[in-house]
Amino acid sequence: MSEGVNISYEAHAIEARRQAAWRERDAARTPTVFDDQPHLYIKPSAPFTSGNVHMGHVRSYSVGDAYARFRRARGDRVLFAFGFDAFGLPAELGAIAGGVPPSEWVARCAEHMTGQLQRLGFSFDWERTFMSSDPVMYRWSQWLFLALLEAGLVYRGTGNVDWCDTCQTTLATIQVEDGLCWRCHNPVRLIERPTWYLRVSAYTQENDRRLDELAGGGRWDEVALASQRFVLGRVDGVEVDLSAAGDGPALSVFTPHADSLELARFVLISPKHPEIDAWAADPEVHERLEELRSGGLERSSRDARAIALIDTGRSLPAPAGGGSLPVLISPAVDGRFGATAVFGIPEHDRTDEVIAERLPELLAASRGAGGADASAGGGEASAPRAALRYKADDFSISRQRSWGTPIPIVYCEAHGAVPVPKEQLPVLLPLDIRPTGAGNPLAELSEFVQTTCPLCGGPAERETDTLDCHFDALWLWVPVCVPPESREETLEEILALADLRQWLPCERVVAGSDSGNFVFDQRIVTKALRDLGPLAFLQDGEPFAGCLFHEMVISDGRKMSKHLGNVVDPDALVERYGADTVRLAVLYAARPQKTLNWNDSAVLRAHRFLTQVWEFSQARIAAAELLAQTERAASGEGSDAEPVRDTSEHLRLKLSQWCEKGAEKITQDMEGLEMHSAVRNVMRLFDRVKDFDKRVVARQGALGRADNDALLEALALLSQLLGPFAPHMAEELWLSLGNDESGAQTPWPGVSLQAVA
Ligand SMILES: [Zn+2]
Ligand SMILES: [Zn+2]
Repeated sequence: MSEGVNISYEAHAIEARRQAAWRERDAARTPTVFDDQPHLYIKPSAPFTSGNVHMGHVRSYSVGDAYARFRRARGDRVLFAFGFDAFGLPAELGAIAGGVPPSEWVARCAEHMTGQLQRLGFSFDWERTFMSSDPVMYRWSQWLFLALLEAGLVYRGTGNVDWCDTCQTTLATIQVEDGLCWRCHNPVRLIERPTWYLRVSAYTQENDRRLDELAGGGRWDEVALASQRFVLGRVDGVEVDLSAAGDGPALSVFTPHADSLELARFVLISPKHPEIDAWAADPEVHERLEELRSGGLERSSRDARAIALIDTGRSLPAPAGGGSLPVLISPAVDGRFGATAVFGIPEHDRTDEVIAERLPELLAASRGAGGADASAGGGEASAPRAALRYKADDFSISRQRSWGTPIPIVYCEAHGAVPVPKEQLPVLLPLDIRPTGAGNPLAELSEFVQTTCPLCGGPAERETDTLDCHFDALWLWVPVCVPPESREETLEEILALADLRQWLPCERVVAGSDSGNFVFDQRIVTKALRDLGPLAFLQDGEPFAGCLFHEMVISDGRKMSKHLGNVVDPDALVERYGADTVRLAVLYAARPQKTLNWNDSAVLRAHRFLTQVWEFSQARIAAAELLAQTERAASGEGSDAEPVRDTSEHLRLKLSQWCEKGAEKITQDMEGLEMHSAVRNVMRLFDRVKDFDKRVVARQGALGRADNDALLEALALLSQLLGPFAPHMAEELWLSLGNDESGAQTPWPGVSLQAVA
């Protein structure tokens, strides 16, 4: 029995001891010498520097850490590290509330969160952690922006963008939820303004095509795959080219209802349709469209009875012949089919049905009695051909906020928008800005704004929009693959490192189920960087070979919120029960793919289990020691004391079978990231071990030496299997069973100690 081991389970002492030992032996260090063992990059999500680790983080990182520890225990080489997603509106608003500059705010938050995560014992390689708001890191965003701009995948357009009056900023489509700002929940309106876009549409089809391959690989779970299909929003159908008689504009019109073309009653065009201006040539129509864009018509309405409808005054021939269809502009298209034009078929679509009911009155008002149209009669319709639409669309990446990556563009009177040469990166963000929540303080900082044109040396002004932190997320998964000593090198040098080829594609992403958009866009950009060269070694353009999305943690059946007073504080739980208990509880309570409705029974169950395992083990270790001593003393004295009569061989055999089966099952669970099932199987195995003990005692009064050996062997196995979930206690148990602290990870059953060295 090793020194200092107490029979009662003292989680805090055990955890402090193990964490010190891990630091001492640099247990989570990423290998930089590449041998023949498998190399796996397991990617946790990049936390926002929100200030506090919440139960959702605990869940996410408990799953990821269990998997990372399992793979290390098998002898695999593991990279498990993250960077803080430190730019963006939440951090800026936190800084405003805290009355400090954002840079100070995020540094403070990151430090606090790091302490919380370390207390929980997650095996991140902290040396590789970074802040996306550090110049050496946001230079990645600027470099990527320029690379994509050069390739035509970033472009400047005057577009209709969602705008929040309260936050004084444009929003990405994904930041608009039911017509409300994701941040402040106030209504959003559509405005026209020059902005930078990411051309997602260049790779939506490939993202679609690759999904089947990812599904076939077996490492993408259903929730993650479903999220990709959802973001993609693929709709299959047909399109028909329609042209009116005379010189009216032609239009390709889509419908998912290929066999019902004769039921089409009208045509709807999205206000974001690339050819919309041709349909709004009439001054009155144009004015109505402007009104729609500036929010005068209720754009956000999801209710077909209230959604904006603008009659263009024009018609197109019906696709199946016989008559013509009025053409209307409406944002009712976008959410269903993207920025396109579609047939209105009331028989098949509830929205179309409601619009059809509004139509007679609308047409009578705009076209006069009888609804005569300006371009009735004649025209041509092509034969329908198979077509696809995707809801996924190019999105705006610039924001009028000061806490973000400066866009490396200057405006020169002679040369217009000029990219800052890559060798001049990073364009530094001034650190003394004090956002107030309104407007953009960056635009008012003349030291920042006034500069010279890289082409002519004449006076120029910097772009004062910054990149949305969603743009940072496009590369945030890469830099942990870079050894810290290479971090300052040029992006070209970094992207040529052998390390990237070793760690990418990432073996598994473990993230919340709300990460679908991030993952989708990361998949898009990987394909772009493959075609541009830097990531050419990823032939399928897929950054993630595997992906597990977990659901969130709620309490009392509701989302946790301060307002509801149902927030579960992980620090308080750790303080009370220890990190191992909290980690085990979140894994035990629900499958990752299910929402975890928190209640104390899981934490009580986990704590009771760990306490029992510890106390049972320590008692049996002590008893075995005592028996060995007695036997030694007896043999020394030449005594003829009667040893326990061994009648339990069949029970030992049974125990070893249980152990073998249990280890096999738990290994399978771990390979499939079924932590919930693995934890339950570990608990079951412990029940069997106790059962063995009880039966032997019932049978022969006490455990003999062979029984003790079998029992301790089973407990050693249990400590190995428990390692991914309750790593502190498991390792301490492993050591107390006579294994020495070799500087190596506790191996998985069947794996040699050398393999994990
Ligand atoms: Zn807002
Ligand atoms: Zn110039």
